Amino acid sequence: MEVLEYSAIFVSLVIVGFGILIVTAFAGRQSIPDGLEINGIRIVKDRFVSLAVLPLADGGAALFDAGDDKTGKAILGELSRLGLGRENVKAIFLTHGHRDHISGAPLFPNAQVMALSEEVDIAEGRASSGGPILRFLPVKPTGVKIGRTLQDGEVVDLGTVKVRVFAVPGHTAGCAAYLVNGVLILGDAADAGSDGRVRCSPWIFSKDQAQDRASLRRLATRLAGDGCVEALVFAHSGVLKQGIEPLALAARGW
Ligand SMILES: [Zn+2]
Repeated sequence: MEVLEYSAIFVSLVIVGFGILIVTAFAGRQSIPDGLEINGIRIVKDRFVSLAVLPLADGGAALFDAGDDKTGKAILGELSRLGLGRENVKAIFLTHGHRDHISGAPLFPNAQVMALSEEVDIAEGRASSGGPILRFLPVKPTGVKIGRTLQDGEVVDLGTVKVRVFAVPGHTAGCAAYLVNGVLILGDAADAGSDGRVRCSPWIFSKDQAQDRASLRRLATRLAGDGCVEALVFAHSGVLKQGIEPLALAARGW
């Protein structure tokens, strides 16, 4: 057999292997509850990811992530349902800088886009997020401009609503979770399995899974007994409505 044929077989096996790993990473997760509303926060499915839309008392709106679709079709549809347009979006909180969470952000001219300071270069396209696969993607400008950098423990005041900011590094260096109206938005730092258990971020898409687990343990400890968390929201899977306990339970097993 020619060297070329051996090479073709090797490349094919590598591709199949990665395919199996990716399918395994996605398997057994809850589906995204498109249109679910929790404490005034609406979950919107955008292709294979979700984001959250929060209408504000002053007629504005805040987004938690901005989806995968550069045309923002799902987000604009939800805003239209609320009687709002793209100019009404005043704040966008990014959980992290992966493309499937930020692509719609440039569509909103009046929005202040926020992310943890450690995530700014990734979100704007000057640095790779790292990880077994994503490190090989080209680093190029995303069109996203972070207007305000956030720090762990910060509280962002949106008038009648306050957003607590938590650093949960691991999936990327500057991953954030946001607690708003009793809803803890975890982005890709964790997932909900179809068995109702919380999983940490898949290693194949993450910079450092061990760090992700440690971040989630720390977050569960910080929020245990707080009584503020009513629901957990995950970007690629479901919503769990048993307070912080599913996260605390998972964290005890890691
Ligand atoms: Zn991600």
